Amino acid sequence: MNTDIFTDYESNVRRYGLSFPTVFTKALGATVWDEAGKPFIDFLVGSGALNYGHNNPSIMAPAIEYLAGENILLSLDMYTAAKRDFIEAFVDFILKPRGLSYKIQFPGPTGTNANEAALALARKYTGRSSVMAFTNAYHGMSLGSLAVSGSASTRELGGVARHDVIRVPYDGYANQAFDSASYIDCVLGDPGSGIEKPAAIILETIQAEGGMNTASAAWLIEIQRICRKHDVVLIVDDIQAGSGRTGDFFSFEFAKIEPDIVCLSKSLSGSGSPFSIVLIRPDMDIWKPGEHSGTFRGNNLAFVTAGAMCKMWSERQFTADVQRTAAKLQRHLDHLVAKFPKCIEQKRGRGLMTGLKCRSQAIVGRVHDVAFENGLLLESSGPNRDVIKILPPITITDDELDHGIAILSQALQEQDND
Ligand code: PLP
Repeated sequence: MNTDIFTDYESNVRRYGLSFPTVFTKALGATVWDEAGKPFIDFLVGSGALNYGHNNPSIMAPAIEYLAGENILLSLDMYTAAKRDFIEAFVDFILKPRGLSYKIQFPGPTGTNANEAALALARKYTGRSSVMAFTNAYHGMSLGSLAVSGSASTRELGGVARHDVIRVPYDGYANQAFDSASYIDCVLGDPGSGIEKPAAIILETIQAEGGMNTASAAWLIEIQRICRKHDVVLIVDDIQAGSGRTGDFFSFEFAKIEPDIVCLSKSLSGSGSPFSIVLIRPDMDIWKPGEHSGTFRGNNLAFVTAGAMCKMWSERQFTADVQRTAAKLQRHLDHLVAKFPKCIEQKRGRGLMTGLKCRSQAIVGRVHDVAFENGLLLESSGPNRDVIKILPPITITDDELDHGIAILSQALQEQDND
């Protein structure tokens, strides 16, 4: 496979190309093919950006029609028919059935664009500057998002001061007995704590990049209560855990909380087309026209595919299939944990947002390489990169799922034998 052009010209910053040294050409559902025609099962899915699989026909058919029809592709934040259709679909198929009411902000297309907008709005709304953020959080690579992220190497990247952040322990961080929500409640209520009242608390319900750490429903409910009690904005960064990944559309549905602000991106377009939105509690929408801006806020192709994705959530068969697939994946992982105790410490995650915490980074590295050789794409996460991230498309077929798990099991078996 000729990869010389990448070595010669692409920056050293590239990562996935080095992890998967082949050239990919084609993809459908949960399968990606390289130039030599070798198939790979995709448990990486664009780091959570292709929850509905590659080229999902229900999503791509309207996109192909749209592209063929001389329709508008980029529109800043002007009104277009495609944008109107997306808003209608999002309200009718996602928000209303869940009893949720939000205004929708269209920021730039990436996840970090959404988080920057959310943080700016919370600061403007409260007139406060600091934000409470959690250990092992990951919120993106622009300065405001870097500041609230936990990883030392990520935070150092900005090269400038990252102040106005109060770091607090995530659910279960120190140990399961330590109640971090009570700690937060306590310091916010204590004038002697030395911790000023923040504009917002920003959290992921599952910390994917942080190692698939999973917050409990009880903890999330408590954090919401604390935010309301202390008049602090609750921002849920649902960029990776949302858009169906956990088996529900929003990752916080299981806890029945209603965050003040929700950020969505990654799989929101359903197609891999860049798209993000910020959902804002209606009375908090105090933006002035044009106050927060950006060129790529009107990706109409993403509006079309996102609308088709939203409609899928109105189909009972679709939601039942996603739940069934999530249960099947969980059973597979339980089986792997029981079979390979020498390699695996524990199963992590919820629904189809899952990981296997391994006993060392070296095991994860070798499993990744053997799996790739045998036709499975995986990535790792966690501060010590000792968690295998397992993110199959939520629409994966039973055969593809079984096949991917069989390759993973074989790779683990080889480490177990060592
Ligand atoms: N927030 C979370 C929870 C993420 O997982 C990511 C990306 O992995 C981001 C924000 C940043 O999104 P993007 O890479 O599109 O800027």
